Amino acid sequence: MPRMPRILVTNDDGIYSEGLRKLAKALEPLGEIVIVAPDREQSAASHALTLNRPLRLLQIEENEWIVDGTPTDCVNLAILKLFKEQRPDLIVSGINFGPNLGDDVTYSGTISAAFEGALLNIPSIALSALVGAHFSFNRCAAFAAELTRVALEQHRDPRIILNVNFPNAEFEGVRITKLGQRIYSEGIIERLDPRGRKYYWIGGEPPVWHPGEGTDFEAVQQGFVSITPLHLDLTHHASIPRLKPLEELLGQHAAKG
Ligand code: MN
Repeated sequence: MPRMPRILVTNDDGIYSEGLRKLAKALEPLGEIVIVAPDREQSAASHALTLNRPLRLLQIEENEWIVDGTPTDCVNLAILKLFKEQRPDLIVSGINFGPNLGDDVTYSGTISAAFEGALLNIPSIALSALVGAHFSFNRCAAFAAELTRVALEQHRDPRIILNVNFPNAEFEGVRITKLGQRIYSEGIIERLDPRGRKYYWIGGEPPVWHPGEGTDFEAVQQGFVSITPLHLDLTHHASIPRLKPLEELLGQHAAKG
């Protein structure tokens, strides 16, 4: 009999977040669930790896560990230490409290955990939910279980991760999408502390998006679950021939030192 698939669940909202709990519970029928997650919130941790201090790995339940580091630290410790002998078959990251759409994906700790899985050759899925009045982690978790079942059955290229965003309403359906573009606005809030010194908050305003057909933002705005395939290769291939003349133009200068 084939063994049960092992599924690693992680996130960037921390071990106590409701999204992680609901996700792990919904995935239980699909295999052996192991949780390795940050011991506190690490949202917008991006793809950071902790190299300047030691990391602690603490087992808190039979199949649960916490790490005093980033989501990327968690995936590394899970794959290269805890489950070195029997690697997980799939990594599922989330469900994040808040969307991870379009231009914002590189900030995301949720997505970076999935990218780390890709780098370690394990198929990975990132899940994020828009929050608001009609929001339900239960609805998102039920869909996540169905997607995970499909992902376990169908062989996938581990270098390509699936970035899933849930709309903040009943689902109209599913759209396979591309990343949308954010309209950047001045988002620095300046305040004074009780001693009269300035301090700053980044952000504050909800992001505004360029309308774009086939984008992740359009899909969730219309009530669809958005699934965007992402890969780590950031090369802009079309620019290579256009920049080719620089090899000669700058190459001689470089060679002369
Ligand atoms: Mn988060």
